[in-house]
Amino acid sequence: MADKYDVIVIGAGPAGYVAAIRCAQLGLKTACVDDFTDSDGKPSPGGTCLNVGCIPSKALLDSSKHFEQVRDHYGDHGIKVKNPEIDVGAMIARKAKIVKQLTGGVSQLFKANKVELVAGRGRLLKDNQVEVGPVPKGSKKTLKAKHVVLAPGSVPMALKGVDFDDKHIVANAGALDFDAVPKRLGVIGAGVIGLELGSVWRRLGAEVILLEALEDFLAAADTDIARAAHKEFKKQGLDIRLGAMVNKAQLKSSRVKVSYSDKEGDHELTVDNLLVAVGRKPATDNLLAEGTAVELDEHGRIQVDDECRTGAERVWAVGDAVRGPMLAHKGSEEGIAVAHRIAGKYGHVNLDTVPWVIYTEPEIAWVGRTEKELKDAGVEYRAGKFPFAANGRALAMNEPAGLVKVLAEKERDRILGVHICGANASELISECVVAMEFGGSSEDLASIIHAHPTLSEAVHEAALAVDKRAIHRAN
Ligand code: NAD
Repeated sequence: MADKYDVIVIGAGPAGYVAAIRCAQLGLKTACVDDFTDSDGKPSPGGTCLNVGCIPSKALLDSSKHFEQVRDHYGDHGIKVKNPEIDVGAMIARKAKIVKQLTGGVSQLFKANKVELVAGRGRLLKDNQVEVGPVPKGSKKTLKAKHVVLAPGSVPMALKGVDFDDKHIVANAGALDFDAVPKRLGVIGAGVIGLELGSVWRRLGAEVILLEALEDFLAAADTDIARAAHKEFKKQGLDIRLGAMVNKAQLKSSRVKVSYSDKEGDHELTVDNLLVAVGRKPATDNLLAEGTAVELDEHGRIQVDDECRTGAERVWAVGDAVRGPMLAHKGSEEGIAVAHRIAGKYGHVNLDTVPWVIYTEPEIAWVGRTEKELKDAGVEYRAGKFPFAANGRALAMNEPAGLVKVLAEKERDRILGVHICGANASELISECVVAMEFGGSSEDLASIIHAHPTLSEAVHEAALAVDKRAIHRAN
């Protein structure tokens, strides 16, 4: 007889574990099935984000930022440090400790909320049954629930002609665990992962070459922001080669030979390590047994309606495996909303106000539409910009790079997008998300008191600049 639950969640990443906790809080008997294990083979809930994604990469970004500050910028403050060294082992151990703390925290939260963590790989069968197997010990088992939430997440995309060996040629997880700073690191893809992990190893002394197939740098970002960021990354020494399509990479005598072509012809590049960061795809292989009525699209994404319902009755899907951006916070909000819907309550997710953040230095963050998207859609708008070089706090922090750009409807002034390249952009974007979520105008942002001296004054000034009345720059 199968174990019975109100809800079974498949996947304990930010979408799944959050959905499971919220379901349990709402009084539903909930199990969460997940197969992530740590180096000791013990369950490690938290998915890609906590284990090999957002959190460990932020830990390394922080360590490497400190190192670069000491080595290159402490002198600006009059602090003298001779020949600082990085202990890569200690840095990686600090990261591992943070990961353990957070994944352990998810296990504790499950216990506190009475969510049952079922270790093993889940597969949806007919009639809302979930097969779990192979679990670490014993054989496959079958669970049954009134509702199933699919939150399987995503996996790195592979590139034809480039085989991972998980030591020299790696995806994100491998690049979080190098045991020494590579002399020369190649990165395929100058997207989010390529830029973040490329920055980590560059700061620690690696020569980093990013090969990006597109001619435009950061094509998804607003053009002004992408341009400002590109200028800074070049200054830092990131070698970003645009229009460079990688065809092949081969391991030869412990080094990697990369073949790529651009408009000038074919090239070869030899590196010590190669990070492949060409996007992620939904982890839906082998997730669905025959006859479940859940459908996948041509990209392997689970098809859902606006409320995350799949084609099968009482089967829901959330996170990276469904439409929308592959971002942890988007998945978490979907997870909470689905829990509410299962419990017969209203669930809210606004995909138009999902913030994006790239944790480089300067950071890049945005919400809403870019200027190009507005132009292409024929929307009339006004734009206000403000550079951090004119913000006192940014200068005091030695971080004058970048700008804030606010885009608002021409007539009604409703905010359509805010784009930031600069220090702490990841935090600054929040007030813009709130403003947009409440249908705010640039005048609303302009009328709010922003503490002085803070970086947030640049958001305030950019909002004022929409109406050509910025104070600390000529309009
Ligand atoms: P991405 O889509 O951000 O970037 C991949 C890049 O690789 C693209 O610019 C693409 O043009 C390029 N590319 C593809 N094939 C190529 C080839 N043959 N040669 C050269 N370039 C090629 O993908 P990613 O950086 O792998 O990240 C994956 C996902 O993870 C993203 O959807 C992202 O949202 C998410 N993520 C988010 C964060 C964050 O929010 N800070 C951090 C890491 C990952």
